[in-house]
Amino acid sequence: MSEQIDAHLAQSKPLRQCQRCRSSPATQDVRTQKLCDDCFILYIRTRPIKRIEAVLRSTTTNKLLATPGSEPVYLLSLSGGPTSLALLSALDSHITSMKTKTGRSSYALHALHISSPPPTPTINLAALRTAFPQLAFSSVLLSSALSSFPAPPQLTQQIPNYASLNDEARLAALLSRAASPTARADLESQLRARALTSFALAHGQSIILLGSSATALAELTLAETAKGRGGAVVAGLAEDGAVLASDHIHGQPGAGVKVFYPMRDLLRSDVGAYINVAALPGQGQEGKLATLLLDGGEEGKGRHRALKNVAIDELARTYFRDVEEKFPNIVHNVVRTVGKLDGSATANGGEEEGGRSRRRCVCCGDVVASHRADGVGLRDDVEGVRVEVVEGMCKRCERDFGVEGEG
Ligand SMILES: [Zn+2]
Ligand SMILES: [Zn+2]
Repeated sequence: MSEQIDAHLAQSKPLRQCQRCRSSPATQDVRTQKLCDDCFILYIRTRPIKRIEAVLRSTTTNKLLATPGSEPVYLLSLSGGPTSLALLSALDSHITSMKTKTGRSSYALHALHISSPPPTPTINLAALRTAFPQLAFSSVLLSSALSSFPAPPQLTQQIPNYASLNDEARLAALLSRAASPTARADLESQLRARALTSFALAHGQSIILLGSSATALAELTLAETAKGRGGAVVAGLAEDGAVLASDHIHGQPGAGVKVFYPMRDLLRSDVGAYINVAALPGQGQEGKLATLLLDGGEEGKGRHRALKNVAIDELARTYFRDVEEKFPNIVHNVVRTVGKLDGSATANGGEEEGGRSRRRCVCCGDVVASHRADGVGLRDDVEGVRVEVVEGMCKRCERDFGVEGEG
């Protein structure tokens, strides 16, 4: 009897179908629904495309004035990892579909890779150019950021002949002074932001797109909060785009470059699945997106390699690796909550708001508030304190870069 029932159940159980198109077998599990590959690809692409459409709505002043070729160009930061590649692919498909429908696109995309030392290739620009012929690609050295980097004098004084060194040598000397992998990674990350901003300004671009997934942003939030630097994360994840510190923008005070995270609604694991099923443009089922990755590129790998021995970052990463699988809503909630917090109560990157200005440490990006006239060094968490925008290092960086007690 029970055998009969089992056999009956097995027979009547239909092959699980995609819950969206109801025609193809489901191959992807995105928790709320089971999808076929094609519907899954649409599901992933829709998230960043919706974010970009919101950016377009908030920044396009008069569409009627726009003529072909005059569309805004968004700068996409290409890390060499899967999430920024997935973002590139999603927006390329968006641009293609707009061009198919109307003959033109409401924005163009310029992808920029910033290569950091040592110059091991983390990206295959030639293959990317071939795969995405309608997009522009560029690559700059991290050292290019130094032209807009207000190197703290107390730091450069420690480096023999700093003034006469070229940018590559200066970068190597600055990084070599970092006493910990965290300090080094923080300085690299600050320089990276500068290189992106300088490139955007030099090319008349005012929007920067970063490819971090919800999982990566949740990790960053937890790790930075645990280090007592949550305020900077709050400022950086504003839903309507974070304005980069005006001290990043040399010679153009008040010029605004906004940063958006179009992949902030997606889990790292879903993006990983996407690049393995999504085909390269015009390649049918042959070439998959993942073939463009040089090292199988785990997202943020470079940074985490650098931070291997830093307990908090590793802890956050391990924590969210488990959470992402079992409780994905926790990941989304962290990012959503941070995006809605009011960053104006916490000091954030040097922008002016209601007459109150704020700044960050040039080496680590940490918020530095100060009562001192020279603006260097003291941290103050009291809300509403007027803070001067002054270049300088925080106390921790003074220690980390061996200039403690100087100046
Ligand atoms: Zn389907
Ligand atoms: Zn610092």
